[in-house]
Amino acid sequence: MKIAVFPGSFDPITIGHESIIKRAVPLFDKIIIAIGKNADKKSYFPIEKRIAWIKEGFKDYPSITVSEYSGLTVDFCKIVKAQYILRGLRTSADFEFERSVGQINKQLYPEVETIFLLSLPEHTSISSSTIRDIVSNGGDASRFVPKSVTLI
Ligand code: ADP
Repeated sequence: MKIAVFPGSFDPITIGHESIIKRAVPLFDKIIIAIGKNADKKSYFPIEKRIAWIKEGFKDYPSITVSEYSGLTVDFCKIVKAQYILRGLRTSADFEFERSVGQINKQLYPEVETIFLLSLPEHTSISSSTIRDIVSNGGDASRFVPKSVTLI
């Protein structure tokens, strides 16, 4: 059974995340979208909303579940018996960041492989932080998020 964890803040989930997840469905038996809770980083949207949006958005995908976790991603992978970490790559900046995290995770837990999917070109400029900027300034960011996400 191939189990992947897709870790992130998903604050909020975007159509970029959604696309990576849907494209990964044929690759894994199970994908756990794992919302990391960072003690000293306050989120913009409450965890309950972020989970509900993801649940609703993927309700027709039986192999996709959503969980929250705190602590190291590799420790969460051990708990849920995931052999894969899924991440999306938009730019060379993403690559440099992901390279270091992925190589450290491999040292911490050699049984885990990080699998990267390249973002679609039209999603390269979409980030949760840009969406938070738009929303906090009263703009309409609905085109950048899945239909299940109600930003206001
Ligand atoms: P983090 O807080 O770990 O950066 P995010 O929720 O921002 O979490 O992102 C989770 C994963 O989704 C990361 O691998 C990130 O590179 C990827 N990602 C973010 N935005 C996009 C996008 N627009 N297209 C494809 N992948 C994306």
